[in-house]
Amino acid sequence: MTIRVNPNLARTLQKFGAKTATHCFHCGNCTVVCPLSTDDNQFPRRFMRYTQLGMEEKLKHSVEPWLCYFCGDCSRLCPRQANPGEVMMSMRRYLTSLYDWTGLSLKVYTSKSFEYMVAAGLFLATLILVLLLQGNAPLDHTELQKFIPRSYIIVGGMLFGAGLAGLVLFNICRMQKFITGGQPNQYVKIPVSVYIKELGTFLYHFVSQNKFSQCTNRGRYIKHFLLVFSFLVFAFYAGLFVIIEVVQESLHGGLINGLKVAFVTGAPHALFPAFHPIRLLEYAATAAVLYVVIESFIGRIAKREPLHQDSHSTDWTFLFLVGGTIFTGLLTHIFRNLDYALATYYSFALHLAFIVTLFVVGALFAKWAHAVYRPFALYFIKVRETALKLQRDEYASF
Ligand code: SF4
Ligand code: SF4
Repeated sequence: MTIRVNPNLARTLQKFGAKTATHCFHCGNCTVVCPLSTDDNQFPRRFMRYTQLGMEEKLKHSVEPWLCYFCGDCSRLCPRQANPGEVMMSMRRYLTSLYDWTGLSLKVYTSKSFEYMVAAGLFLATLILVLLLQGNAPLDHTELQKFIPRSYIIVGGMLFGAGLAGLVLFNICRMQKFITGGQPNQYVKIPVSVYIKELGTFLYHFVSQNKFSQCTNRGRYIKHFLLVFSFLVFAFYAGLFVIIEVVQESLHGGLINGLKVAFVTGAPHALFPAFHPIRLLEYAATAAVLYVVIESFIGRIAKREPLHQDSHSTDWTFLFLVGGTIFTGLLTHIFRNLDYALATYYSFALHLAFIVTLFVVGALFAKWAHAVYRPFALYFIKVRETALKLQRDEYASF
C-alpha cells in the first residue's frame, strides 16, 4: 500500500508546540513506561516516528493522541529530552484544528497575535453589549436583575449554549469521519444502534476521567478531576437553579407563573441562601478551581513538571480566562452580599465577558476542546470494538 508523506510535518507540528520530536532515537522507553499505551493503541514512540517520517495521513486518522493525559512519565524518562508528552499534546492541538471546520482553531493555535486579538475582541464586544443592554438599576441598593434583565441572561445564555453545542457537534462528526476513515483494510460497518448503545461510554469517561487514574502521577489526576467536577457543578447549578424555581413557583401560581418568575422576574440566587447545601457545593467548586488555576500558574512559571516546561500561548490564555471568570464571579458574589451596588454591576459585566471569551476561545477553538474530544475518542474506540464483535458473531453464525 502506498503511503503519502509530508516532509514538512515536523515543521507544521512545531507551530503547535512539538519542538523536540526530531530528538527521538526510538529507544522505546516512553511506550514501555506509558501506563495508557496498550497493544492495540501503542504510543507515544509511534507518533515520534510519524512526525519524523512525515506520515501525516496516519496521524490524521489516529485516535491515540486523545488517549494521552500528559502525566509526563514518558518525558521524564526520555534519554533524549524529546518530551514525547508535549509532542502528544501538540498533536491534540493539531487534530483539534483539523476537526474544526471554521479554520479558526488553526489560526488561534498557530498565531499568537490572532489568538490575543480574538480573545480581546470578544471580551470587549461582550462588555459593550452588556453595558448597552443594562437597565435602570438602583445605586442605593443592589438589584442585579435590574442591571441586566434576567430574561436576557437566560435566553441569551441558552442561544449562546445552543450555538456552541451545534458547532462542537459538527466538529465531533468531522472527528468521527477522520478516525474511522483512512483505514480501508480495517473497514467495519457500524450500525446506528451501536452508537446509541455505547453512549454511556462517552458519559462515563466525560464525567469520571477514569483513564487518567491509571497514571502513576495521582496528584495530576486528582487536580484534573477536581477541575472537571467543578465545571460540572457550575453547569448543573445554573440549570438546577432555573428548574427548581419553575417547579416551586408553578406549585404556587401555575406553570405560566413559574416560567415567568424563573425566566423574567425572579431575583437571582434568592433560592439558595448562604449555607444551603447546593450553595456550599458551589463554594467548594470555586475553591477547587481557584486552587488548580493558581497551582498551574506557579507550575508553569517554575517549569516544575514536564507538562509545564513548554507552555503554549493557549495554555496561558486558558488559565487567564478561567482565573478571570472565577475571580470576577467571586467579586460579584461578595459585592452583592455587601450590597455594593455599582461594584456588583460592573464585576458582573466583567464576569459575563470572561465567560463568553472562555467558552468561545477556550472551549470551542483551543485548550478546552479536549474535554469533549477525549471522551468521544474513547467512545469511538468502544463503538468500533462492539461493531467488530457483532460482525464476527454474524460471520460465525453463517
Ligand atoms: S523515550 Fe525518548 S528517545 Fe526513546 S523512543 Fe521515546 S521519545 Fe524517543
Ligand atoms: S504523557 Fe503519560 S499518558 Fe501521555 S504518552 Fe506520556 S506516559 Fe503516556
